[in-house]
Amino acid sequence: MPIDWHEVERWIMGEAWIGSNIEAHLSTLCDEIGPRWASSSGEWQAVNYIRDQFTGAGLVDVVLEEYPLQSWRYDAAAAHIVEDGQEIHLLPFNRCPSFSVTAPLVDVGYGTPHELDDLAARLPGKIAVVALGYEPFTPPSPLSARLAVLAQKGAAAAVVVDRKDGGRVEYHSAGDWSIPEPDSHPLPTVAVSREVGAQLRKRARQGQSLHLRVDAEFFTAPAHNVVAELPGIHWSQEHILVGAHHDTVIGTPGGNDNASGTIVVLETARLLARLQQTLGVSPGRSLRFVTFSAEEQTLQGAYAYVSRHHGPEPAPRLAINLDELSTGPIKGLVLAFPHLRPLVQRTFDAMGDGLKCHVMAQLDYSSDHYPFIRAGIDAAFLWRWRFSGRHADSDFHHEPGDTADKVRPRELKEYIGQLARLLLRLSHVAPTDWPTNPLTVESVSARLQDERGQVVRVN
Ligand SMILES: [Zn+2]
Repeated sequence: MPIDWHEVERWIMGEAWIGSNIEAHLSTLCDEIGPRWASSSGEWQAVNYIRDQFTGAGLVDVVLEEYPLQSWRYDAAAAHIVEDGQEIHLLPFNRCPSFSVTAPLVDVGYGTPHELDDLAARLPGKIAVVALGYEPFTPPSPLSARLAVLAQKGAAAAVVVDRKDGGRVEYHSAGDWSIPEPDSHPLPTVAVSREVGAQLRKRARQGQSLHLRVDAEFFTAPAHNVVAELPGIHWSQEHILVGAHHDTVIGTPGGNDNASGTIVVLETARLLARLQQTLGVSPGRSLRFVTFSAEEQTLQGAYAYVSRHHGPEPAPRLAINLDELSTGPIKGLVLAFPHLRPLVQRTFDAMGDGLKCHVMAQLDYSSDHYPFIRAGIDAAFLWRWRFSGRHADSDFHHEPGDTADKVRPRELKEYIGQLARLLLRLSHVAPTDWPTNPLTVESVSARLQDERGQVVRVN
C-alpha cells in the first residue's frame, strides 16, 4: 500500500511537538550526569541511559560498542609571573602533554607570517602570547598551523588568548584534525581569557617572564559508541545513518555541545519507531541511530565506528551528523559531496517547508562526519553556525556555561520532526533511483591533501 505522506507527516509533526521527551533528556544528560568526557564515569552513565532509551523505544540490535580510547587527563595547570608571583588563570589545551617552562613572554599578535618574521630572532626559548582568532588582513591560517610555525621558530610554549569576552575561556585543540593522529601537538599550549591575555601582553612589553606548568597523562581506556537500528521493510540490508556525539570536554554539562544533537538522535529514533507501532509505517531501507564517543578527543569514537562497520557491511547511503544545534532553527542539510544534492533538495521541496540542501566548499574536519568523509562515504551535517543567523547561545561549547538552558527545546522539536520526515522519505527512495556514489578513498584523500592548511569557511 502506498504511503499517505500527508497523513504520516501530520502525525510525525504532531508527535514531535506534543510527545517530546526533550526536557527529561536534557535534565538527565546535563543536570544529573553532567560532564561526559569519553572514558569517564559520566560517559558510562550517558551511554547506559542512551541504550535504555533506544531499547525502550523499541529499536533493535541496540549495542554498546566498546573500543580502546587513547585518552588524556591533567592534574595541574598553573602559571605565575616570575617578577612578582602573580598567578595566572589558564586552561591547558585539550591533550596537552606535561611540561614545565620558565621564560620571557613575547607578544606575537595573531602569529601571522609577517608578525613572526619580524620577531624571529626573539622567539627561541620564549613563551609566545598568540591570539586565537584570525587577523583580519591576511588569509586566515588554522591555529594548528600557526602553532607549528611557532614551534619551528623555537618557541618553548604558547599562551593562546581566547576571543570570548568577560573572562570566558574554553578548552581548545592544537593539532591538525584533518590528519587522524590523536596526539599531534605542535608545542605545549594553554588558553587564557581575553582579559588575562591583555595583562600578559603588557608584561611582555615590560620584558617579564612566566613560569608555566602542566601535569598531564595519556592513558588507554575503554569507551563506547551506542548503536541502534530501525529495520527497513523493503531494503533492510541498506541503511541511512544519523548520529551525534554524546561526549563533552572536561568540566562542562555540554548542553549545546552536544546534548542538543544527542537528544535529536534519541527523539527521531523514538518518533519513527512509534510511527511504525502506531500507523504501521516502516522505513524502506533501514535507519541506523548512533551516538558517538570521543568526538572531543580527535573524533576517535567515529573513527572506531567506521573501521568496525565499513567493509564488513555496506556503507550507509548517507550519514548525517548532528552537532551543536543551539544555532537557530533547522535550515536544511549540508552535504560533503555534490552528487546527492538534487535528490535531497527534491525531497525537501516535496516536504514544502523551504529547507535547503547545500554542498560544502571544503571537506570539514570539525566533527564526526569527517571519518565517514575520509572513507568515501556520503556524509552531511546540518546548516551550522558557520553560515548565518546563529543564536548567541551557540557560542557556548567547551566551557562550564554550556548548560541545559543553552538548548531551545522548541527548536529541537522542529529538528526532530523535519529530520524524521526527511529520513523516512529518503528511506523509501528505491535503490535504482539513488545516485551512485563515485567516491574512492584515494580521490577523497587527494582532495584533502589539496585543502590541507586552509581554514574551513566560517562566514
Ligand atoms: Zn560537538
